[in-house]
Amino acid sequence: MYGSPTPESQAVIDAGKQAFLQNYAPAPVVLDRGEGARVYDKDGNEYIDFGAGISVSSLGHQHPDLVAAAIDQLHKLWHVSNLYWTEPTAKLCEELAASCFAERVFLCNSGAEANEAAIKLARKWASATRDAEHREIITFEGGFHGRTIATVTATAQPKYHEGFEPLPGGFTYCRFNDRAAIEAAMSERTAAVMVEPVQGEGGIHPAEPGFLEHLRKLCDRHDALLIADEIQCGMGRTGKLYAYQWSDIEPDIMTLAKALGGGLPIGAMLAGPKVAGCLQPGSHGSTFGGNPVVCAVARVVLQKMQDRALMQRVQTLSERVVTRLKKFGEERQLFADVRASGLLVGAQLRAPFADKAGAVMSAGVDNGLLVLVAGSDVVRMLPPLTISDEELNDGMDRLEASFETALAD
Ligand code: PLP
Repeated sequence: MYGSPTPESQAVIDAGKQAFLQNYAPAPVVLDRGEGARVYDKDGNEYIDFGAGISVSSLGHQHPDLVAAAIDQLHKLWHVSNLYWTEPTAKLCEELAASCFAERVFLCNSGAEANEAAIKLARKWASATRDAEHREIITFEGGFHGRTIATVTATAQPKYHEGFEPLPGGFTYCRFNDRAAIEAAMSERTAAVMVEPVQGEGGIHPAEPGFLEHLRKLCDRHDALLIADEIQCGMGRTGKLYAYQWSDIEPDIMTLAKALGGGLPIGAMLAGPKVAGCLQPGSHGSTFGGNPVVCAVARVVLQKMQDRALMQRVQTLSERVVTRLKKFGEERQLFADVRASGLLVGAQLRAPFADKAGAVMSAGVDNGLLVLVAGSDVVRMLPPLTISDEELNDGMDRLEASFETALAD
């Protein structure tokens, strides 16, 4: 039964509670297996996954082609280090570069590492071409770039900084979507501007039309780099392979992670012509980056995300989810706003419900739904892009039931 772990599951939860550092507060559920857009706990309860992890399992759980690629590589070679080539790793980099503006790719294991590499690359590029003043990286309020000490500093949200000071220098923050503010903030000191084309953790805020073009123009004027953090919004999530492709610009650097590995850990930093030659042997590295098993799976993910029919379906499903959410919200005066970029959807609760997003997420578990939040007032939905009509409708029913239970209290 939902919400009542069996003694066996409770023992797992108790062990986790004892042994985990307390930086997470997992729901009292022990997930055990997944298939498509559904996951099952150890007690046999079934959940619709409206989070895809956190924007990771975008092709669903146990996709047979991903399983086959992983198993094939598992039976060949797991790891050799970056002192040698392997086919999945080299081919993935080639295919990633061919998919966009990039010339070269660095592989690592997570989003934070990809952004860390982007920050280092920007600094290295600046150090080779400009004086020592020219190192500043500008990021945007509401953005999220990771949890390492540099990427958490790049994350212009004080709540993530508290207690971790002193933070590294050289970062400046600017209001998102504020053209005048970024124009005033940029100077000869600026080495790079780092932006999420759609802010995910910050509450599903897309760059307004023209904002990325404005950034590109300013970066060109100041000879600064434009870094697109597509860790959450890239890999098909918005209905195009990369979210920047909704604009007319190309960045100089792009970071990917999350969905690229289909559920296995990977990060990638893609470098365009201006910066692709900056890092020389020994200047940066990662023991596990480019792991052949993960790369074999990522190659299949990348190929599938380039399927036009899938991208079209993401847009169709997005409209369906938004229409249904808006209708539900209007009838109950629930939402201040419903925002979506493809299947990156946020429903912002209005007063007096504005602190209830967490309660909706908890109610979801009791209703057989895994859904996410972004802050205290936004319920965030990122279902697998491959979700079926039936799973989506079922998930929406459960979501509406979760709003009803959470907001009735
Ligand atoms: N950048 C963005 C936009 C993200 O959403 C995240 C994670 O949520 C990260 C970076 C950090 O990625 P990771 O948790 O894999 O280090």
